[in-house]
Amino acid sequence: MTSQEHLHKAGFETRAIHAGYEPDPTTGAVIPPIYATSTYKQDGVGGLRGGYEYSRSANPTRTALEANIAALEEGERGFAFASGLAAEDTLVRALCRPGDHVVIPDDAYGGTFRLFDKVEQAWGLAHSPAPVSDPEAVAAAIRPGETKLVWVETPTNPLLNIGDIEALAAVAHHAGALLVVDNTFASPYLQQPLTLGADVVVHSTTKYCGGHSDVVGGALVARDLDLAERIAFHQNAMGAVAGPFDAWLTLRGLKTLALRMERHCDNAERVVDFLTSHPKVGDVIYPGLETHPGHEVAQRQMRRFGGMVSFRVTGGEQHALQVCERTEVFTLGESLGGVESLIEHPGRMTHASVAGTDLEVPADLVRISVGIETADDLVADLERALD
Ligand SMILES: *Cc1c(COP(=O)(O)O)cnc(C)c1O
Repeated sequence: MTSQEHLHKAGFETRAIHAGYEPDPTTGAVIPPIYATSTYKQDGVGGLRGGYEYSRSANPTRTALEANIAALEEGERGFAFASGLAAEDTLVRALCRPGDHVVIPDDAYGGTFRLFDKVEQAWGLAHSPAPVSDPEAVAAAIRPGETKLVWVETPTNPLLNIGDIEALAAVAHHAGALLVVDNTFASPYLQQPLTLGADVVVHSTTKYCGGHSDVVGGALVARDLDLAERIAFHQNAMGAVAGPFDAWLTLRGLKTLALRMERHCDNAERVVDFLTSHPKVGDVIYPGLETHPGHEVAQRQMRRFGGMVSFRVTGGEQHALQVCERTEVFTLGESLGGVESLIEHPGRMTHASVAGTDLEVPADLVRISVGIETADDLVADLERALD
């Protein structure tokens, strides 16, 4: 694809719109077709056209998405999966063996924790939790010789802790381990972990990458060819791939990621301004606030601070639940990263499974995914719900 080569130096928005696909040579179609096919005609035995043989191994709509997200993350190669968790499971089995050990965030996404705790552990992979905001604690959790992966999220969910990707990469590499960054909350527009020393990026493309709450998907982007080959083998061998329609929706979402993220950030800043001065709101947790313990690191490694905001309300759990149930523009629901604003009570919803453990979140905590509606409407909605 020589016509794609100039894109290496192109800006983020140009890559988001053009990387991974050239207008179809036959029809000129500007957007990749949804290749709803399981198999491909061979020109004589083994005579594959463009390497396509069977759609678990490769499908042109998925190829376009995979090349696009690799260009956005500035990695060697991208891979698209049926969900974020399918991507994670494939990555773990590609890079670890029974008897190995991984370090995971002590506030990991619940589904990620469950995958390591209930599925990979039964397969023989041990895990230890450590706070991503403390590279020394992460270093201390490493078991020399056994730890194959240091797995981090930044910002984390729902407390928006920040991990210093460069420092964590140094810690992992010093111990002979790889650094995996789940970049779901920041999206490739706000943060590119591979450029900061990470080895593999993980996405739940269900969130900001897809961006419209209409598709579940996951992605991996590898920094180098060796990692890419191990992941490619497992993607095909395990088969948890993104279907062509899902790949098409995700690619469509990525084209507007930059615009959406700018508005998510603008609106989140407006909402944070409002919340910090409201008498019924206690702590407001947002990496863009100078009071946030990870603010300086976030400022260094992120373009802006994202669309996720958490806050504590005075009046305890009852009031927090009421706020969640009273908004009208913010929809009460799990997930995040779509154009519409969502509100939830982590203690009773996304984080109910960690109640009573070290990962328990405060009962008066409310998490919002600030969408791209009119900012005034979002502020007015929260104001009504808090009164
Ligand atoms: C949603 C999410 C996942 C899991 O992705 P699915 O697409 O739901 O399988 C992983 N990590 C983070 C940070 C998430 O928010």
